[in-house]
This record gives sequence, C-alpha cells and structure tokens, in this order.
Amino acid sequence: MEGLAKFPPRPTGAGDMFQLFRDGAPRTRASLVSETGQSRSTVAARIDALRSVGLLVPAGEASSTGGRPPSTFAFDPRSRIVLGVDLGATHARIAVTDLAGEPLTHLDEPLAIADGPEHVLSWVAEAGDKLVAQAGRHRDELAGIGIGLPGPVDHTTGRPVNPPIMPGWDGTDVPAELHRRLGAPVMVDNDVNIMALGEHRTIAPDVDDLLFVKVATGIGAGVIMDGHLRRGAQGAAGDLGHVTVPGAGDIPCRCGNTGCLEAVAGGAALVEQLRRAGATVATTADIVALVRSGDVAAGQAVRQAGRDVGTVLAASVSLLNPSRIVIGGILAGAGEHLMAGIREVVYQRSLPLATQHLRITPSGAGAQAGVVGAAVLVIEQYLAPASVESLINAKEDS
Ligand SMILES: [Zn+2]
Repeated sequence: MEGLAKFPPRPTGAGDMFQLFRDGAPRTRASLVSETGQSRSTVAARIDALRSVGLLVPAGEASSTGGRPPSTFAFDPRSRIVLGVDLGATHARIAVTDLAGEPLTHLDEPLAIADGPEHVLSWVAEAGDKLVAQAGRHRDELAGIGIGLPGPVDHTTGRPVNPPIMPGWDGTDVPAELHRRLGAPVMVDNDVNIMALGEHRTIAPDVDDLLFVKVATGIGAGVIMDGHLRRGAQGAAGDLGHVTVPGAGDIPCRCGNTGCLEAVAGGAALVEQLRRAGATVATTADIVALVRSGDVAAGQAVRQAGRDVGTVLAASVSLLNPSRIVIGGILAGAGEHLMAGIREVVYQRSLPLATQHLRITPSGAGAQAGVVGAAVLVIEQYLAPASVESLINAKEDS
C-alpha cells in the first residue's frame, strides 16, 4: 500500500462525489463507501448535502439478500432547467432542457442576426420566457443560458469579435445583456463549438477525440480532444475556413486573403460557380435542392468542395489524430457527394496509422445539435465539482 501514497489523494468533497452520479445510475450508501473510500458517515453527510440542493433524490430500494433492502439515490436532472439558444444568420432555435441536456420544449423561428443585438436579444428573452412557461417551469429554476453565435466569440468575455455577418454586434456584452433580461448566468460560444458539443453529447459521448466540421455558407470546425472542447488561446481554434487550399490561386476571400477554403468550397463560392455555369441558384439551400434533384454539375461541384475540405482536414488529421470526423452544416444535406469527396482525400493523404480507426460520418444530431450543445456549455459549468460545492455552501448559509 505504501506505493499508493505517491498518487494524488482521491477527491473528497460532495461536488466530487456527485460526479459519480452523472452516469445516471442509482447508488447505495454502501456502494459509495467502496467507490470513494470514505467513511459511511461522511458519505451519508454528502448525500444529505446533495439532496438539500435537489441534485440527488431517493431512487427506491436496491435488491437485498436478506433484511431491510438498502435505499438508493440518483441524480435528478429535472431539478433545474437550462435555456439553449442557437442563433444562425437567418434563423433561431431555442430550447429548454433539463440538467442532462434533454430538450423539454423547443422553438424554431426565422430571425435575422443582422437586425442587431437589441432586437435579437430581446427576442431571445421573450421567446425564452415563453418556452420556460410552456415547459411548466419558472424562470427562477434556470441554472443558466447557453448561446451560440454565428461568428467569432472571445471565450473569456462572451463578446463577439469582428463578426463578419453580424453587423452591430462587435464587442457587445452578450452575457450582461441577456442576464439583465432573464436574470440567469449566461455563457456564449460560436455556433460550430456548440454544435460540436451537442454532437459529442448526443451521438458520440464515448468518442474522446472528435472533429466536428460545419460546411455551409461558412466553413469551420469544433475540436474535441480528450473529451473536452478545445478553444485555443483566444477561442479561434478550429477556424478551418481561412486555411489556404493548395492550387486555389487568387480567389479573393471576405477575410482579405486569397485561396481560403471558404472562398473555394463554401456555399457562396458554389452558388457563384454554378451561376456562371448557367444554373438558377441564390442560396446554399438552392444548391442542396439542385444536387438532390440529380443535377450532375451541382453534384460534381459539391464533390469537388468535399475534396477541398478533405485537403485541409487531412492536415488536421495528421496534427490531431481524431478517431471521428463529423460533417454537419447545410451542405452535408446534399447526399453522399460531399462525404465522398472528403473521404476520398482524407484517406488518401493521411498516414495509415492516423486513419486506421478513423470514421468520417454525417452529423447524427442534426438541427438539435446547436441547442443541446449550448445547454451542455452551461451544464458542464453548473455541475462541476466546485460549483456544486458553492451551491451547497450557499444553501447552508441561507
Ligand atoms: Zn479567408
């Protein structure tokens, strides 16, 4: 046993013990004693503390080999609610979830982000209030609000930074503005990061190293490594749209550079390319419809876009060695063409060891990914050991 002393001590607080319950399985006092190595009285006190803040509830009795069966306890995800908000360029999706990220009610509406923060955030607050009531809950029960924006966000402040398609939003204190309207803590991230979180949570919780790639009008990626979302130093990690595609030449990009992936393979680039070839298309959605109708030129254009995305992704595969790449965004809806182009190049350009167990799949969470991911952003914070400890301390002080 002496050798064990070299390892860090086992975590001991109620917040740490609560983490065991997050797998959803009910536990008895005796099983917690053996899982944590703590005394029966300590475990009993921790359970009482967690019950006092509503996070644990009695979950019936375990089977017994004789005598009185022991009581079990389980995480109660319904004890609080979360508002998840996913704002796109022209649509908004908003959902009330429980603390497991399970949507209770949701709402989808057209909303132009270009209408500016005052209009959009007021809409979010009103719609949020309405949904909370619809779920039969109260605003006081909100653990927090998670919101995804279609542009770069400084993760430490929650403020958008020079967002290209969000006029009037640069530097807006989104957390303060929403907190003023709804009275709950607010967390902000970019739309691709929340989609990555949502996909990870709902479809691939066991996949620790995952890249989520959104291919739409813009192109970007959310990076999950070792089970956690990685944002980099300033929150700009995963911005694949402005990596140069070899051989793309001097096609100008809205960022000021030339030959960027987005300028070559993004929705706007494809619309322009197909228009020149004589097709009647105005939006990325038109391209998807055209491909689905069997148009050969549109199918080829999307497949080539897939190859260009694949070229940039092959470099990411060498750098990060993910075991799963998930392709989402509206262009992913254009059938197999995009996926085929991506797979073709990634498997060809990466070393066998990196692709041996690599799966490249379309998004499985679909439209829900964003709102669920926005809620997960809040939940991870709210249920972290330190936050659970402060909930308990606040309860004991009151
Ligand atoms: Zn660019």
